[in-house]
Amino acid sequence: MILFDAHCHLEDDSFDTDREEVLARAREAGLIKAVTSPLSHEEALKALSYFRGSDLVSISIGLDVGEYGDEEEVMRTIELIEENRDEIVAVGEVGLDYRVASAGGPSRERQEEVFRRFIRLAEELDKPLVVHSLWAQRPVLSVLDEEGVTRVILHAFGGKPSDVEFAAARGWFISVATNVIRSSNVRSVAEVTPLDNMVLESDSPVLAPDPRERNEPANLIHSVKFIASLKGVSPEEVAEITTGNARKVYCI
Ligand SMILES: [Zn+2]
Repeated sequence: MILFDAHCHLEDDSFDTDREEVLARAREAGLIKAVTSPLSHEEALKALSYFRGSDLVSISIGLDVGEYGDEEEVMRTIELIEENRDEIVAVGEVGLDYRVASAGGPSRERQEEVFRRFIRLAEELDKPLVVHSLWAQRPVLSVLDEEGVTRVILHAFGGKPSDVEFAAARGWFISVATNVIRSSNVRSVAEVTPLDNMVLESDSPVLAPDPRERNEPANLIHSVKFIASLKGVSPEEVAEITTGNARKVYCI
């Protein structure tokens, strides 16, 4: 079985003591690729120093929505993306997070303004976009549609069946995280997502199959088995199709 982790955070501090073992277990489980998404300028520098030239880990640079109010951080991140255009496979995660807005973070308007700048940057650099959406699935889909984005990975998507349909009709990819085995919301997204529009992610270190544990890419194997039984196909078929989709959207 060959597996592809479409979204995770391997530069996260929680991997500082055993990153090599985590990557070895990923290879052992059949992973051919994991796309790591640093969430700040500082994390992006860390990811570039660890994973530049890695055959297993590719990098997508984005910015946590909670930081969108900090114009200097936004500009630093945009410059870093431009400087490293040949090193990275995507822009993101970027997006909208209305939970952050209602908790006193950047306003909805400011989030949308910054999100559109990242979208245009991805288009200009001809990179796919890794999208974060929380409490804002429909607004995210509308902005992406208005901007005419074609290569989209909707990371850990929690939208309604009609949102999944909207995304699938545009050829976008729904990324199902490893918490699918315990979350009824994620399971219903997986149920309505055609396999041809699905990629798999761990979102390590979060969204583990067991919420008490740190997540890691090797856990993708649990999603594969779960989704296979959900769809009534073999685990091999789920692995083959989702890996093929991820390779296609990331061009790797
Ligand atoms: Zn993430």
